[in-house]
Amino acid sequence: MPSASTGDLRFAVIGAGMAGILSAVKLKEAGLNDFTVYEKAGRLGGTWRENTYPGLSCDVPSHLYCYSFALNPDWSHLYSPGDEIEAYFEGVAEDRGVLRHVRFGDEVVSCAFIDGRWHLTTDQGVHDEVDVVIAATGVLHHPKYPDIKGLDSFEGAMFHSARWDHDVAIDGARVGVIGTGSTAMQIVAAIVDRTEKLSLFQRTAQWVMPAVNPAYTPEERAGFRQDRRLIEGVRDSVAQLFDHFSDGIINAGSPEMEMIETFCLDNLENSVTDPELRERLRPDYRAACKRLVVSTNFYEAIQKPNAELVTDPIEALEPGGVRTVDGRLHELDVLVLATGFKVDAFVRPMAVTGRHGADLGQVWADRPGAYLSISVPDFPNFFMLNGPNGPVGNFSLVEVAELQFGYIMQLVERLRAGESREISATQDAMERLEVARVEAAKNTIWSTGCRSWYLDDRGIPAVWPWPFSQFRREMAAPKWEAFDVRT
Ligand code: NAP
Repeated sequence: MPSASTGDLRFAVIGAGMAGILSAVKLKEAGLNDFTVYEKAGRLGGTWRENTYPGLSCDVPSHLYCYSFALNPDWSHLYSPGDEIEAYFEGVAEDRGVLRHVRFGDEVVSCAFIDGRWHLTTDQGVHDEVDVVIAATGVLHHPKYPDIKGLDSFEGAMFHSARWDHDVAIDGARVGVIGTGSTAMQIVAAIVDRTEKLSLFQRTAQWVMPAVNPAYTPEERAGFRQDRRLIEGVRDSVAQLFDHFSDGIINAGSPEMEMIETFCLDNLENSVTDPELRERLRPDYRAACKRLVVSTNFYEAIQKPNAELVTDPIEALEPGGVRTVDGRLHELDVLVLATGFKVDAFVRPMAVTGRHGADLGQVWADRPGAYLSISVPDFPNFFMLNGPNGPVGNFSLVEVAELQFGYIMQLVERLRAGESREISATQDAMERLEVARVEAAKNTIWSTGCRSWYLDDRGIPAVWPWPFSQFRREMAAPKWEAFDVRT
């Protein structure tokens, strides 16, 4: 597979989701055409390929959840549905000539840095040798199955939300959903009317931010098509709102956090009429401590006559359904496990071996880390998009990836100019940043006492704990003293 040497750098991009497609487009724009994108599946799309559950959508407004270089005047809604988002990414890949660089059905299983180059091997036995690896392997990628007694004994249909089985009939069925994260909320609202009975098994009540999701009119879309500045206006105003949110979230005592809590509380009070149900839906922790759910219709859905909110903890799964600790058997035909993802895998299970045999699995044995989420000491020219401890909470990961890629390109330019051959963060820079990050994380809303996927094994938020504007500034230009640059 390695192409004939062009005298230029050769790249491997791992993953053909949003960040992998972005990398391919940007490499081509930079005239770096010697690269292959390795994609383990048979299609593009990452998250938007893997998640196909009913109600799938993105609660980041579509005009922000897209590439800045491929604005889309044709979004159907403020928050467009998942299949439309997937089609958008596929369209960009097709239009920008990315497809011919992609090897589908080829999972990179190992990556080793030998004599100054990365040697890749795929599960199909393909070997490649490249100068730079861009790992665009995604964050919410590996389904997490719940540790519930008797999980395998259930005789109905059961699947994880990210592995939706479309052959299973939902219409007229008794459906259970475990979990109350953003995924479960979207599913419940989308399917409740189709089911005979819908049981939502809630372990923790969620704060729900109200939203409306208007469709763009044909006139509005025509306007966007004619004048790109209109789209930029929408993007700017949404980005400002998100910046405001990010400023608030990093300071648990901020007025922004109080405002969010008030919005959510009013939503609960005004939307849920039965006082008993309202109390069971009332969270006992701070709003936005867990990933904030944004929903137009969850409260409406859970109040339907065929919906039941089950708050008695689950005792076990049985052939006929879910047994709760009060002794009741909730009989089900279908059970959806909307139980989230293993969020600390990042590039794993791929085996990555850096300089002097450094094993990324061992380096990350306690928990994953990277300088600015991008670079790991002694893993030269191996750069991650949406890597460990980055901005993930209620932001546009597209914008995050674009900023990170811009930063990586500045590192790459030094390699390309022949000024250096190997670039990775220094241990010292990574450790200093980590100490500051952990300290800052203590003041954030995520540290105010709740269980969430943001928290690492020590209970410390594994995310960017500073304002998003600071992330933008940090991504604008590398601090070269933080890098071990070898010639
Ligand atoms: P999640 O937020 O991790 O939620 C998992 C849910 O499963 C939680 O309610 C959890 O309960 C519950 N759970 C896990 N194990 C359980 C067990 N053994 N028994 C009972 N309940 C159990 O997962 P998610 O909803 O898939 O969302 C993950 C992330 O994906 C989101 O936070 C968001 O970042 C992203 N997402 C985004 C959108 C969007 O529109 N942008 C949509 C969907 C997802 P506890 O709360 O008690 O732990």
